[in-house]
Amino acid sequence: MDGKIRFAPSPTGYLHEGHLLSALYVWAAARKWNLQIHLRIEDHDQSRARPEYIKSIYEDLKWFGFRFDSDSIQSKHPKRFEKALQKLHSQGLVYPCYCSRKQLEAENPKSSTGEVIYQGKCRQQANPEAMSDQPHCLRISIPNKVVHWHDKFLGDFDENPQQQCGDFPIRDRDGQWTYQFAVCVDDIDEGITHVVRGEDIRNSTARQIALMRLLGRDVPPIYLHHPLVVDAAGKKLSKRERAHSLRQDRDAGVSAEKLLGRVCHRASLVAQDTSLSLEEAISVVADKL
Ligand code: GLU
Ligand code: ZN
Repeated sequence: MDGKIRFAPSPTGYLHEGHLLSALYVWAAARKWNLQIHLRIEDHDQSRARPEYIKSIYEDLKWFGFRFDSDSIQSKHPKRFEKALQKLHSQGLVYPCYCSRKQLEAENPKSSTGEVIYQGKCRQQANPEAMSDQPHCLRISIPNKVVHWHDKFLGDFDENPQQQCGDFPIRDRDGQWTYQFAVCVDDIDEGITHVVRGEDIRNSTARQIALMRLLGRDVPPIYLHHPLVVDAAGKKLSKRERAHSLRQDRDAGVSAEKLLGRVCHRASLVAQDTSLSLEEAISVVADKL
């Protein structure tokens, strides 16, 4: 094997067509580039994750016939995240931020994507310990530096996380590890060499590479961000359509082959809305890589 790729759903709902398309890209990339496949359940946010969703991820993947080489569930290895936090803390890179959501909105500029660009107000806190019983998140001091990275589909990017989002939270006010932090720690610890995921997360890549460098990994994974499923008119799926789960179709008697064919059609990977076996669907996607 020449590396390891991961499929990393969040168990905050049932899998839908968007997940199915991502899974096809991951399995296709694994076949094309000879990679091991790791299933990672991203339940870092314990306020949103639910056991029945975790169970259904395993069941749904099995129903379609997706096999993986290894798997992990974030909440089962809390020490990994504590250790990474300590590593950053010992370098003086972590600080508490007491800003309320209202303050964050009022006091900071926004990026073109509407994201708050945190200006570092709490970085220079005179005496952070004095306030430590107040609600706070933990932020990472991210270098003010351009990250150069390449996407196998989208090409080259030069992005400075300080201009995209500023210092970002690694643990939220409720004590939950953030997606950005958990994903970096796991991509390092699990030896992930290839990241294939939807274009909606592309914006997070530069900050993840910067954070991985602070955690000691200099060579980032190889990235590919794939187009998302769209509706018949070529528009992004509505919330309602995205909420429609694969298991609803399955319970209604729709076959796995029908669903695989439909998602490939909706992603403009095949011209007709016809049934495809898992093997065929993976081949269709692999041809595009
Ligand atoms: N857990 C994320 C999601 O379900 C995916 C994270 C990633 O692939 O980096 O949207
Ligand atoms: Zn602050």
